[in-house]
Amino acid sequence: MQEFDFAIVGAGIAGVSAAYHFAPRARVIILEREHVPAYHTTGRSAALHSETYGSAEIRAITVATGRFYRNPPPGFAERPVLTPRGALIAGRAEQQPALQKAAAEYASLVPSVRWLEPPEVLARQPLLKPEAAGGGAVFEPEADDMDVAAIHAGFLRGARAAGAVLRLNAEVAALDRKNGRWEIRLGDGETIAAANIVNTSGAWADVVGGLAGARPVGLVPKRRTAFTFDAPAGVAIEKMPMVIDFDESWYIKPEVGQFLASPADETPSPPCDAQPDEMDIAIAVDRIETATTLQIRRLKNKWAGLRSFVSDKNLVVGYDGSVPGFFWLAGQGGYGIQTGAAAGRLAASLALDGKLPADIVELGVTEAALSPGRFTQR
Ligand SMILES: Cc1cc2nc3c(=O)[nH]c(=O)nc-3n(C[C@H](O)[C@H](O)[C@H](O)COP(=O)(O)OP(=O)(O)OC[C@H]3O[C@@H](n4cnc5c(N)ncnc54)[C@H](O)[C@@H]3O)c2cc1C
Repeated sequence: MQEFDFAIVGAGIAGVSAAYHFAPRARVIILEREHVPAYHTTGRSAALHSETYGSAEIRAITVATGRFYRNPPPGFAERPVLTPRGALIAGRAEQQPALQKAAAEYASLVPSVRWLEPPEVLARQPLLKPEAAGGGAVFEPEADDMDVAAIHAGFLRGARAAGAVLRLNAEVAALDRKNGRWEIRLGDGETIAAANIVNTSGAWADVVGGLAGARPVGLVPKRRTAFTFDAPAGVAIEKMPMVIDFDESWYIKPEVGQFLASPADETPSPPCDAQPDEMDIAIAVDRIETATTLQIRRLKNKWAGLRSFVSDKNLVVGYDGSVPGFFWLAGQGGYGIQTGAAAGRLAASLALDGKLPADIVELGVTEAALSPGRFTQR
C-alpha cells in the first residue's frame, strides 16, 4: 500500500495550492475524481481578483494572495498571472449614501479605492445608462483579471517538483482510520494510506467529511451562471472596467473581444456537475439590457458552477476537533481563486506548525474565524 503524510482530496485551486505549500515539507498525494483537474468550480470562474469582495477575513486573505500572484517565485508562470482590469460597483441615485459608505470602508484596507461621481462612472464605462450610475460607484482601480489556468498550472507544477503525486480518476469512496492512519479506498477498489486527509473537495466537502465521520460544517453549494457574448462592433472594450451592480444582481466583465456576464445567481444545489439554467440567463440578459446600452443577440458560451458557502461566508480551515488527522480547507464560495495562494499557505502553516503565518495574522485573520470548530463543536 502506498503511504503518504497528507492525502489531499480534490484538485481544484484549493487542492493544488495546498499541495504546493505542503509538498516541500511532507509526502503528498492529490486524489481527484475527474479525468482532469480543475473540471468543477475552478474551471468556471469569472477570474477577478478583488480586494473589496467578501468578509473582512476573505478580503485580508485576498490581499495576501495578491502579494503572491503579483510577484510569484521564478518559474511559477511564463507571464504575469494578474493583469489590470479595474472594477466599478455602480448604483442608482437612492443608493448613493450606501455606496459612499462602502467606498470608505473598503478604502481602509485598499487605499486606492474611492467613490466616483456619476459622470466619472459614465466616462469610465460609457455603455452604462445614466440611471444605472445615478448614485455613482465604488471604484477599485487595482482589481485585476486572473489567469486561472496559469495559476492552477503553476501550483501543480510546483507541487510536483517538490514530490507531490497527482492521481486522476481517483474518487475517494471510503475513509477508515486504523492505528493512527487513514486507509483511503478509491472508487476502483485500490487502497492508499495517509496519516492525514486534507479536505479540498469543494462542493463535496461535507460529503467527504461524512466519509471520515466528521460533523458537517453546513456547506451550501450555490449555483452561479455565466455566459459570454460579443462586444458591439467597433467598440474597444479591452480597457473598460468590470461593472457589478450594487445589489449584486448582474455583472459584465470585458474579455478579449467579448463580455463575460452573470445574473450573480445563488441557487442552492446538491453537489453536482452544475449546468446553466435558461431562465437565469434570460434574467441576466434582461437586467444587463436594462442597465446598459448593450443588446445581447447571441450567446457565445454558457456555463454554471457551484460556489460553496458556510453560514458566515468565511473559509473553513483547520483540523477537525473530533476526528484526528482530518483537515478542512473548504467554503471557498465566490473567492476561491483570489484567496487561493494564501489559503494554501495558511493551511500548511496551521497543519504543520500549528499557527497562522505572521503576515496573515497582521492582516487581521484569526484561527478562530476560520476554525471548523465554529460549526462542528458539540
Ligand atoms: C460563475 C462563477 C464565477 C466565479 N468568479 C470568481 C472570481 O471572479 N474570483 C474568485 O476568486 N472566485 C470566483 N468563483 C469561485 C471559485 O471558482 C471557487 O471558489 C473555487 O474554484 C473553488 O475551488 P475548490 O478547489 O474549492 O473547488 P473545485 O474547483 O470544485 O474542486 C474540488 C474538486 O474536488 C473533487 N472531488 C470532490 N469529491 C471528491 C472525491 N470524493 N474524491 C476525489 N475528488 C473529489 C472534485 O472533482 C473537484 O475537482 C466563481 C465561481 C463561479 C461558479
